[in-house]
Amino acid sequence: MIIKPDYNLKCVYDINFDDLENQGIKVIMFDLDSTIMISKSGCYRPETEEWLKEVNEKFTVAVISNNKSEEYIEKVQKISNFTVIGHASKPNPKKMKQYLDSLGVTPQEAVMVGDRPLTDIVAGKLLGCKTILVDSINAENENIPTRLVRWLERRVIR
Ligand SMILES: [Mg+2]
Repeated sequence: MIIKPDYNLKCVYDINFDDLENQGIKVIMFDLDSTIMISKSGCYRPETEEWLKEVNEKFTVAVISNNKSEEYIEKVQKISNFTVIGHASKPNPKKMKQYLDSLGVTPQEAVMVGDRPLTDIVAGKLLGCKTILVDSINAENENIPTRLVRWLERRVIR
């Protein structure tokens, strides 16, 4: 299977929000770990927090995470000014669909942003929304096995 994200970016901060706005995007769904937060850290970097604040002023923002720990998700929800949904079971797009339905927004008006092709991007594709693949927010500090898995997983992208 070839998975082609609409955008393949080096960094989450490279997202062109004016471009998304011009395409009628209203909702931005972010994966959590490694996309906007260092994996399992439970807190945003100060610069990410500032950046998210700006994004949240222009768009409806949500986090869609596969993390199954209610405690962790609650902790992240407390420090976020937007909806945080856990236990999403991506690539199953069900929770994303439910979330968009609750807003009365169509998949065409939404984008999924994540660091994993086989979960985040496939979920977006199955839902029918735009997709943005980003490299890990902590790429420079990841160990070699993690980088190798990322490299292998990206072989499916064209
Ligand atoms: Mg991730």
